[in-house]
Amino acid sequence: MTSLVVAEHDNRILADATARTITAARALGQPVEVLVAGHGCQAVADAAAGLDGVDTVLLCDDPLYAHPLAEPFAALILSLAERWDAVLAPATSHGKAVLPRVAALLDVPQISEITKVLAPDTFERPVYAGSVMATVKAPAGKLAITVRPTAFAAAGAAPAPAPILSLPAGPDPGLSAFAGETLSQAAGPELTSSKVVVAGGRGLGTADNFQLLAHIAGRLNAAVGASRAAVDAGFAANDCQIGQTGKVVAPELYIALGISGALQHLCGIKDAKTIVAINKDDEAPIFQVADLGLVADLFQVLPEIDAELARR
Ligand code: FAD
Repeated sequence: MTSLVVAEHDNRILADATARTITAARALGQPVEVLVAGHGCQAVADAAAGLDGVDTVLLCDDPLYAHPLAEPFAALILSLAERWDAVLAPATSHGKAVLPRVAALLDVPQISEITKVLAPDTFERPVYAGSVMATVKAPAGKLAITVRPTAFAAAGAAPAPAPILSLPAGPDPGLSAFAGETLSQAAGPELTSSKVVVAGGRGLGTADNFQLLAHIAGRLNAAVGASRAAVDAGFAANDCQIGQTGKVVAPELYIALGISGALQHLCGIKDAKTIVAINKDDEAPIFQVADLGLVADLFQVLPEIDAELARR
């Protein structure tokens, strides 16, 4: 039996989250197959085959998978159920939509957002917004597992590429159809994989002030993040939100500007290596987790930071 990793991609590029999910799959101690379902996605299959720890790539290239619709993906994984005893996907919007369907249709357990593999049937996962880490032991049998990508290192390059096996398309449940998409025009690196993140909160006060933050982020080649309060106030786009109901980030450097540090925000940054906080309230909870803190008024400090970065 094998562990099947559902690759995440845009038909051209394999997402870094898949390389991290492969590391989690390898810890289960059985052969790892990677399912690349898409359309015109040979380059993705080649990239997956080049990752260390991958035994086989299953390539299912068909218009049915041109867009990541949960229903046909779940039906395909189900049609391959004889091959695997654990199916893993990154805990992204796609993985979180597909795997619970697979688990429900097979009536097997779903273990969500694991952060450690303690044994092939025992996993660590956060609960209560990351304030408690639970150890979960699964019963014998098939398992559907979503993986928090930031908790695992990415698989490196393999000494030799794994074989790629072409598969026919699975059944089309006919439950959903692709209508269209609007891609956000966010400049700069992708939030969840950026090495530096500059995030702003309600303390920024206005969308215009948030632009100054974005400008500074640009100088640092950083991704822009935001608290939910900043998103709700319309300062930043929805897909910038970090935290319990937003994205989980694990950059080398996280700079929080005008963010108080609510638990629901902190659970999205707990794996950041160095946290820098600027807040005018010296009792803001963000200072309890910050490696470097500056008690200061943003409106005084931000132009100074900008000028200093421009000088360098
Ligand atoms: P505030 O808490 O209002 O903090 C603003 C900070 O700015 C303050 O500390 C203040 O001192 C500082 N400040 C103000 N002016 C200045 C200035 N001139 N200079 C310097 N500092 C200044 N939140 C998230 O972020 N992400 C989530 O995913 C999320 N999910 C949630 C899910 C649930 C179910 C619930 C109930 C809440 C969730 N929240 C989430 C909301 C969370 O509880 C907080 O309300 C939110 O994080 C607060 O955002 P903030 O820190 O920007 O705002």
